[in-house]
Amino acid sequence: MRRADVLVEEDRIAEVGAGLSAPEAQRFDAEGALVMPGNVCGHTHLYSVLARGMPPPPRAPRNFPEILRFIWWRLDRALDEPSIRSSGLIGAIDALKAGTTTLIDHHASPSCIEGSLDLLAEELSRAGVRGVLCYEVTDRNGRDGRDEGVRENVRFAREGRWPLMRAMFGAHAGFTLDDESLDEIGREAAGLGVPVHIHVAEDVCDQEDAIRRSGKRVTHRLQDHGVLETQPLLAHGVHLDPEEIRLAARTGAWVAHNCRSNLNNRVGRAPVRALLEELGGRVVMGTDGIDQDLFAESRTAFFRGREDSLEMLADQATGMLAAGAELAGRRFGRPLGRIEPGYLADLVIYDYTPPTTLTPDNLAWHWAFSFTNALVKDVMVNGEWVVRNRSMVRVDGGEARAQAREQAERLWGRMAEIPL
Ligand SMILES: [Zn+2]
Repeated sequence: MRRADVLVEEDRIAEVGAGLSAPEAQRFDAEGALVMPGNVCGHTHLYSVLARGMPPPPRAPRNFPEILRFIWWRLDRALDEPSIRSSGLIGAIDALKAGTTTLIDHHASPSCIEGSLDLLAEELSRAGVRGVLCYEVTDRNGRDGRDEGVRENVRFAREGRWPLMRAMFGAHAGFTLDDESLDEIGREAAGLGVPVHIHVAEDVCDQEDAIRRSGKRVTHRLQDHGVLETQPLLAHGVHLDPEEIRLAARTGAWVAHNCRSNLNNRVGRAPVRALLEELGGRVVMGTDGIDQDLFAESRTAFFRGREDSLEMLADQATGMLAAGAELAGRRFGRPLGRIEPGYLADLVIYDYTPPTTLTPDNLAWHWAFSFTNALVKDVMVNGEWVVRNRSMVRVDGGEARAQAREQAERLWGRMAEIPL
């Protein structure tokens, strides 16, 4: 590891080297600590932040479509403005305390669509985490719900009023979108110049649906409707076949791997090796809303990969994190993910004194066997401290959690009244 000073000017790293000078008041002594770039969560759902500990659905789901219908499509329908705000703020705090400095989110709140992305943007900005936001367009709430979702994506992307926020164009999944809806999504996203962010082949039901509707597998169906032209972010890709993976690679698509969610929903094993071979540095890591903790996610992905093959190396898990920074950097039009001059100043200081030799070559192995969010001590985003000595700088975490508990009770109550 390199021992150096890091000079931050405004939102970026200006210089890295020995003996750099800065005004006394702006100096931060990280002597003996480890500094690394912030983590990027390549696919999450802040709307599920208040779900932890909620009562089980009236009937136990037996498969993935039932998990959606019994749980998530009742939860998202029950969301209102205050519960969206609480979800955003708690998600932001969880993220920063886990050293996650950018969240690539996929939002849904069918009873409160218009302006919902601004609610999230405001709460994330308040805590100081970067966001790449979009609204999940779907047919499941009728034409009006679909059109309102499209308008929310367009409005948010066009207005661009939040300095720490950028847009993608959200689409739920092929199996809840007819051909006309997919055409519109492809067209609008291309017009805005933003990638579509969509669940693809998460469960086998997405492939069965695509074949029923079009006679083609889901990735080919998306290509027919212009979605692949936007260099989209495809979440999961568990059931992509080799030809679809090559198609994704050829068209510049990115894939977000969400290992823990796949385990939790029993949807199958993502073809991680094939994805890494074909897409190279365009496979990112997401949490799918389980939390915003990329240590837990990448370690699970590593161990899960080892169960399949000893060819899974720790570097492949950390490589997906680097890919996430590359993807987010492209949305911001500024480089992210390295401590080098010109890169955005999103930094995490770890309380980690290695008990064995630590070098750039073996860092991934320290990561896989040692790193947890408990090591995160200080966090800077966009050149500003947002966590100091494990406490939030800009928001009161205790107050946010007290409000969230209240909102969660109300949310669960509303959810219980929505029939299966
Ligand atoms: Zn998801």
